Amino acid sequence: MSTTIGQVIRCKAAVAWEAGKPLVIEEVEVAPPQKMEVRVKIHFTALCHTDVYFWEAKGQNPVFPRILGHEAGGVVESVGEGVTDLAPGDHVLPVFTGECKECAHCKSEESNMCDLLRINTDRGVMIHDGKSRFSINGKPIFHFVGTSTFSEYTVVHVGCLAKINPLAPLDKVCVVSCGISTGLGATLNVAKPKKGSSVAVFGLGAVGLAAAEGARIAGASRIIGVDLNSNRFEIAKKFGVTEFVNPKDYNKPVQEVIAEMTNGGVDRSVECTGHIDAMISAFECVHDGWGVAVLVGVPHKDAVFKTSPLNFLNEKTLKGTFYGNYKPRSDIPAVVEQYMNKELELEKFLTHEVPFSEINKAFDLMLKGEGIRCIIRMDA
Ligand code: NAD
Ligand code: ZN
Repeated sequence: MSTTIGQVIRCKAAVAWEAGKPLVIEEVEVAPPQKMEVRVKIHFTALCHTDVYFWEAKGQNPVFPRILGHEAGGVVESVGEGVTDLAPGDHVLPVFTGECKECAHCKSEESNMCDLLRINTDRGVMIHDGKSRFSINGKPIFHFVGTSTFSEYTVVHVGCLAKINPLAPLDKVCVVSCGISTGLGATLNVAKPKKGSSVAVFGLGAVGLAAAEGARIAGASRIIGVDLNSNRFEIAKKFGVTEFVNPKDYNKPVQEVIAEMTNGGVDRSVECTGHIDAMISAFECVHDGWGVAVLVGVPHKDAVFKTSPLNFLNEKTLKGTFYGNYKPRSDIPAVVEQYMNKELELEKFLTHEVPFSEINKAFDLMLKGEGIRCIIRMDA
């Protein structure tokens, strides 16, 4: 039994003091978990674009000082009042959005948009009492999307923790927390391509490559990667992408190029760019009669989707998805099992690794667009 239960833990955390300034490794105090909360020892974390976006804080409310990080794997250290389905020693993945299991969304088989724990990027405190569990000399340090995994210990609402197979290597499955599940689920849960079908993936970043991985797992025979950056094509080959289209190479809309390549359109498309032009192309490039397009990218707030209603009358379907339609607690453990069964290949996403003390290097790599995922080892 750990002696830290019920005690404040002093540990290292990477604190973002100001927008765009390198993180500083500080000694922080982490309060014990309160009602429905769990304190987790983070073993591995990874950097995702969303961390960089909120660290730069160019388009949103700046919330500083803050502990970022939301893709991670860890082990439960202690649990607060009311937590019955997790215990010290359990292996968990923190997730930026949650599953309370009680609201209308959680009770619906179709939705993963929990009313209580849906992602909230402006909140820097715990829901229970509106306070932070992190402090330095009594001064609060804010949380990020309920996870704050750039800390040796963090406190998370029980509804934002997926309990996973303890045999799963945390240095690999930590990336299932966010980007990989988003792309994978967009294909497997929402686009649902049939074996032997054609799938176009717009945007070959981590999310798009995970969407391609979903298409490979589903048995798609043609996976067409679309990206404005031709440098992405080499890496995408490892993900089963069979053909490439750079819209810049053509003087007609990319949807027309794809329709010509596929005798009228692809069976499924998944958009992972966040750019409105790509969203419209992704919809218009699906085959009439049965084609389904799925939007994953987060658009500019003023973007407007414009297409002819005839596309719908011609039986093209447009869908969108949040977090690949996965419910964090109910569904994510099974994604980890897909990796354990060697169905899902995670290693090809893991291109870099740095010790926690060098976490800013992971930011540099992402800003330079190098690699896919950089794993940050907390014990080094
Ligand atoms: P990324 O920046 O690594 O990759 C995006 C890729 O799209 C880049 O390679 C870029 O060159 C390409 N691209 C940009 N505009 C394009 C265009 N018009 N046509 C073709 N390619 C284009 O991003 P990522 O981390 O892979 O994330 C992808 C998107 O998914 C982002 O918008 C992100 O915000 C979003 N996202 C959504 C969810 C969700 O739940 N819906 C969750 C996580 C991330
Ligand atoms: Zn809920």
